[in-house]
Amino acid sequence: KKVLTVLMVFMLVISLFTGCSQQTSGGSKKIKVGLSLPTQREERWVRDKETMEKVAAEKGIELVVKVADADMEEQITQVESLLAQGIDVLILAPHDAAAAATLVEKAKKEGIPVISYDRLITNTDKLDVYLSFDNVRVGELQGKFITEKVPEGNYIILSGAPTDNNAKLFKKGAMKYIQPLIDEGKINVIAEQAVENWVPENALKIVEAALSANNNEVDAILAPNDGTAGAAIQALAAQGLAGKVPITGQDAEKAAAKRILEGTQSMTIFKDTRDLGKEAIDIAIKLAKGEKIETNGKVDNGKIDVPSVLLEPKIVTKDNLKEVLVNSGYISEEDLK
Ligand code: BGC
Repeated sequence: KKVLTVLMVFMLVISLFTGCSQQTSGGSKKIKVGLSLPTQREERWVRDKETMEKVAAEKGIELVVKVADADMEEQITQVESLLAQGIDVLILAPHDAAAAATLVEKAKKEGIPVISYDRLITNTDKLDVYLSFDNVRVGELQGKFITEKVPEGNYIILSGAPTDNNAKLFKKGAMKYIQPLIDEGKINVIAEQAVENWVPENALKIVEAALSANNNEVDAILAPNDGTAGAAIQALAAQGLAGKVPITGQDAEKAAAKRILEGTQSMTIFKDTRDLGKEAIDIAIKLAKGEKIETNGKVDNGKIDVPSVLLEPKIVTKDNLKEVLVNSGYISEEDLK
């Protein structure tokens, strides 16, 4: 009997000890968050990742990061592996908005809350929160800018990946300004195409084809982001037209900031990924603790109005570039050289 008691005490001590090893010094269990990003192709996604890693470290939580290379199958495998690792919350920026719905369902089945990060996950009623920028507003800023600069003439209208819900929102916002001018016969659309997977090379081909089919007679280009804008500008440059055709962008990439100062790109949209990343970690911690989160909007994902936290995008032109991007420390003077 004595041996049994000693053994039981021993086992109790062991179990207490192993239990403790999972605890932080504060005594509570360390929060573990899974982050699944669609890509690192655009500079912004590199920054999102860096910010979340930094903030997670500061807040003393564990962040497990997976990056899918713009490949939904890969993202599914990666998220399944995150779910198997006992995460408390999942931050998911989907490559494919609709296909990611099954991942949300899987997470929720295991009681894991999901934050749809930057890109909305559609076709599920299980999403906890959508954290992004006001993406219709992004498109509005692009559309307003380009139609003010070029109220009539030949337009090339590019949009982002059809699998990305943001692409639809950007275009919806931009067309609020462009469509009425098309209807009035002032704007003539010489090409209107989605850029598969957001790949710049695809944008390059679309613009090259539009230029050659229209004798280089193009007056404006709506490009949804800096990656596609850069490719479009390359096509313009090959025809000696860079800097002569107003063109939009988005993301405040370093290369785009340089082009804006040089005059080959007309604007970009600054979405401060430092704020977005920090907000994501803050929300994840709250969800892990079962606390209420403050939202400031709702976005329809085809199934429900998802409670959303939407940050404000800012327009950047040559006139305010230094003030907005350099003074905020997003881009350094060095980056602009
Ligand atoms: C993001 C953009 C980005 C694009 C391509 C969109 O969902 O909001 O910032 O340029 O994806 O990665």
